[in-house]
Amino acid sequence: MTDTLQKFMFEHAGVRGEMVELNDTWQQTLARHTYPRAVQTILGELMAASALLTANLKFNGTMIMQIHGDGPVKLLVVECDAELKMRATAKLSEHADIADHATLSDLIHAHGQGRFVITLDPNDKMPGQQAYQGIVPLDGDSIATVIENYMQRSEQLDTKLWLAADAQVSRGMLLQKLPKTGGAEAQVEDETEAWNHAVMLGDTLKQEELLSTDIATLMHRLFWEETLRVFDPLYPQFQCNCTREKVGNMLKMLGEDEVRTAITELGKLDINCDFCGKHYGFDPVDCAQLFVAPTVAEGTQAPAEIKH
Ligand SMILES: [Zn+2]
Repeated sequence: MTDTLQKFMFEHAGVRGEMVELNDTWQQTLARHTYPRAVQTILGELMAASALLTANLKFNGTMIMQIHGDGPVKLLVVECDAELKMRATAKLSEHADIADHATLSDLIHAHGQGRFVITLDPNDKMPGQQAYQGIVPLDGDSIATVIENYMQRSEQLDTKLWLAADAQVSRGMLLQKLPKTGGAEAQVEDETEAWNHAVMLGDTLKQEELLSTDIATLMHRLFWEETLRVFDPLYPQFQCNCTREKVGNMLKMLGEDEVRTAITELGKLDINCDFCGKHYGFDPVDCAQLFVAPTVAEGTQAPAEIKH
């Protein structure tokens, strides 16, 4: 099954929507990790939400969603670029014992310190241009409500999300009320009514149904009485953009003393990408080169041809 994102609009009503399903992208995300069931759920839901929000924005760059937790889950990260190339990972605290039905609050907001961070990193940054970053306290008892509250606060847009994920699939739907066109009071009333009607249809969607039904069937089942304009589908994909150079940069940021201590202790540094599991090995010569080379790119080239 292909991973698909489907955008649509209600004709004659200021409401737009999207549905997404992630099979392969989600399987590749889970392939190298054994996450407890409750963590699968929230990471999968965040991944579906990330695809929905990225496709909804007209932004040429990468959206990075992070949830920093203060409970057994320390961090969730999902990245999605304008072409819907995605990767995701979760970091758990050591020896975390996580029940299957642990709630979002149990997992990441145990002491009220959870934070939700959205970063928009443009592709063609001007010199000195920073990525946009919004940081808010974790407000909501599910991934969907956290994002709905964020959208309400930051964009002043009524947005509703329905999300579900298990070990097989991650699916979601987004509805959004288009910004008011102004006009007569009657028109504003009509728009509100159309929005409430769309949300009411969305609210008939059960979690089980969302997990077990493909999005084409769901769209028909929910909206068969509506006139929808349906756009060409988009195809999300798993892609990790880790490189030896980036791993080298990360080691440089740790500092020469730290890296030297580690290499003396371990003989060799073995680093696996958190997102795709790719292995990067740095032996003592590689590590020394990191700190003498004039540029990072030279210092982190694959050493095979140089040494043998
Ligand atoms: Zn990677």
